[in-house]
Amino acid sequence: MKTVWEKYNEAEMKACFEFNEGYKKYISECKTERECTIEAIEIAKKYGFADLNDLIKNGTKLNPGDKVYVNNRDKNLCLFVMGKKPLSEGMNILGAHIDSPRLDLKQKPLYEDHGLVLMDTHYYGGVKKYQWVATPMAIHGVVCKKDGTKLNVVIGEKDSDPVVGISDLLIHLSADQMQKPGAKVVEGEDLNVLVGSIPAKDEEKDPVKTAILNILKETYNIEEDDFISAELEIVPAGAARDYGLDRSMVIGYGHDDRVCAYTSLMATLDVTAPEKTSCCILVDKEEVGSIGATGMQSRFFENAIAEMLALSEDYSDLKLRRTLAASKMLSSDVSAAYDPNYPSVNEIKNTAFFGRGICFNKYTGSRGKGGCNDASPEFIAELRKVMEEADVQFQTAELGRVDQGGGGTIAYILANLNMDVIDAGIAVQNMHAPWEVVSKGDVYEGYRGYKAFLEKM
Ligand code: MN
Ligand code: MN
Repeated sequence: MKTVWEKYNEAEMKACFEFNEGYKKYISECKTERECTIEAIEIAKKYGFADLNDLIKNGTKLNPGDKVYVNNRDKNLCLFVMGKKPLSEGMNILGAHIDSPRLDLKQKPLYEDHGLVLMDTHYYGGVKKYQWVATPMAIHGVVCKKDGTKLNVVIGEKDSDPVVGISDLLIHLSADQMQKPGAKVVEGEDLNVLVGSIPAKDEEKDPVKTAILNILKETYNIEEDDFISAELEIVPAGAARDYGLDRSMVIGYGHDDRVCAYTSLMATLDVTAPEKTSCCILVDKEEVGSIGATGMQSRFFENAIAEMLALSEDYSDLKLRRTLAASKMLSSDVSAAYDPNYPSVNEIKNTAFFGRGICFNKYTGSRGKGGCNDASPEFIAELRKVMEEADVQFQTAELGRVDQGGGGTIAYILANLNMDVIDAGIAVQNMHAPWEVVSKGDVYEGYRGYKAFLEKM
C-alpha cells in the first residue's frame, strides 16, 4: 500500500503542510477541554455560526445552510450546518473528544516539605506515570471565585513564564526503584509538582508556602481556599513542533484526540449547504468513561437535537428518535500507529501506519471484542465508496494484536441511539505520553475524509 507522500502533487503537498500549521497552532494554545471549546467557538463564529440559545430566545427558524453551535459548560460543543433535507431524515455526525490525559490539581493541593512547596495532583486518564516526571510542565485552567468571577490561568507557555514540574529519583540512588514493575516505578501519590523554594521573611510556620500564596494572590488574585473551586490541569509546557528531518510529522501534547477534533471541526466549517445536516460534537470526559454532564453519555446531545428540531420542523419525541436512528456517525478518535521499536504488539496486516491516510477501526474493545461497537459491513461499503470517489486515502486497522490489550471510544454510545457508527481517526505514536506524534499526511487525509463524509454520505 502506498503512502500519501507518493500520491500528493506539489500543490497537495503544500496544502497538507499548510493545514498542519493551523493544527499545530490549535493544540499549542488549547491544552484543556475548556480552551479547545472556547477557541473552536471563536473560529466557528468567524465562519458565521450562531449560538443556539440566541436563536431560541429570538424564535429564529432554521433554514438549509444555517450554521449553529451549542456550548455546554465551556467543555463540550456541538456544531450544525443545516442540510437541504429535513433534520428528521438524519444527520452525518463527526464526534471527537477534547479531553486528554494529564495531572489535575487536587482541591487542597499546596504543602511545604523541608523548604520546598509542592502541589498534589490526581492523574486523569490512562497514563504511564513514569513518563510525566523530569519534564517542564505548565498550569492551565480556571479558578472560580465565590463572587461568581472566573479567572483563566495559563502559566508556563510564554518564554518569559516560569514552568513547574515533577522530580524523578536520581539514577545514583535508584537501586530499589529500578527493581519495581513499570506501574510502580512512579506512583500516583508521588506526582507532586514543585512550585517554590524561597521563604517569606519573619514567618515561623510554612514560610515558603506563605511566599507562594503571596505570589498567587498578587499575580493571579488566587487565595488558598479558591483551589476548592478550581479546575487546574498540569500539562506539558511548550508548543507542538515539526518532527523528523523531513518535517513529515508533528509532535505535540494531546493529539488524542484533538487531532480528530480539529480535523472534524475544520471539515464542518468548510461544508456549505450539505444534503443532510452536518453535525460535529466535541466532547469531554472520554478518557475517564464519557460520563458526566459534559461527556458523550450526557443528555446534552439529545437535548440539542430536540431544540434543533423545534426550530427547523417541529419537535416530538418520535421525531427525535427517528432523527437519531436515521443518522450516521464517524467516531473520530485516534488509532495506534505502527512503531518499529515495538512491532510485537501488532498483527501486521491489520495495523495502522503513518502516511497511509485516515484509519477506520471496525471495532475496538478488548479480549473477544469486549465492549466494542462493531460497525456493519453495509455501512463500511458505503464509506469505501464515499472515500474512493473523493480520492481520500484510507486504511483499516485493529488496536493491536488479539489479547494484547485494547481500548474504547465514544462509538458505542452513539450506536446505542441506533445509528450506524464506525471509529475513524488518525494514527498516533506514543499515545497518552506527554508528547505524542502524528503524520501530517494522515492529519490532512483525516480532514479530507471527514469533509467527504459530511458532503457525500
Ligand atoms: Mn481517544
Ligand atoms: Mn485516549
